[in-house]
Amino acid sequence: MQTVNRIDPLRTAVAALRRDGPVALVPTMGALHEGHLTLVREAKARAAHVVASIFVNPLQFGANEDLGAYPRRLAEDSALLAAEGTALLWAPDADAMYPAGFATNVSVNGVSEGLCGAARPGHFDGVATVVCKLFNQVQPDIALFGEKDWQQLAVIRRMARDLDLTLPHADAIIGVPTVREADGLALSSRNAYLTPAERAAAAALPAAMRSAICRIGDGEPVAAALAGLMQALLAAGFTAVDYAELRDADTLALLAERGNGPARLLVAARIGKARLIDNMAA
Ligand code: AMP
Repeated sequence: MQTVNRIDPLRTAVAALRRDGPVALVPTMGALHEGHLTLVREAKARAAHVVASIFVNPLQFGANEDLGAYPRRLAEDSALLAAEGTALLWAPDADAMYPAGFATNVSVNGVSEGLCGAARPGHFDGVATVVCKLFNQVQPDIALFGEKDWQQLAVIRRMARDLDLTLPHADAIIGVPTVREADGLALSSRNAYLTPAERAAAAALPAAMRSAICRIGDGEPVAAALAGLMQALLAAGFTAVDYAELRDADTLALLAERGNGPARLLVAARIGKARLIDNMAA
């Protein structure tokens, strides 16, 4: 696996790969776990070459968020990616991504509003801006993202359509189902912030979500099921619930009642030093 930190060697390396077959991009912020590696495996199954990126993107962190504390493990990550057959690691220096004078912002209306967009102002502008840059830098044939970040996936799909980004077809942005621990907790680099007791308590998040989905399916009003979900999380040791909402799975329109179309339950909740997010088909 080749590793590049600057844009010119990236372009040279990607051009060489592309001459030899399609390229799949897997963007990450590093501190890799099985969820990320599942994206890489899925990418490998769908394209000749996998380009992974690792960049802890300052634009998507708010002033009081965990940019400084975010885990950075480039050597271990690099070994994991190489073992999965990744062809190229794009690990840009901060000034390669945002040179002095950088002044452009990509902002996606609609799907980026509410949910994490409300709890983390500016977050999705940062995500859209960096992913737009990554698409232009690597010009992949396909790109893979986790359903774990459902709203992020919707923002990226909207942006790619709206800006005619260079991906060759509408379904070139591929969502990969969330990889979970045995107790149901979604894998996340931020799980590393949890103490063993908090980690054990965090399993209440997927359990309470599954229970709320069952209750909604059994006809309980959505508001009552969501109130029960929040109570269950607070009782289990979560200190706050940023949101717990039922939304249209595609448009992310808020649903007061479970209709006939695809719906998604999305939750963000805080425990210890971590803010955990999860979502499930409802
Ligand atoms: P991150 O490094 O957290 O920005 O995540 C990089 C990519 O991995 C994103 O597309 C995430 O949605 C995806 N991802 C993170 N956690 C998981 C997981 N548990 N299962 C599947 N994909 C994930």
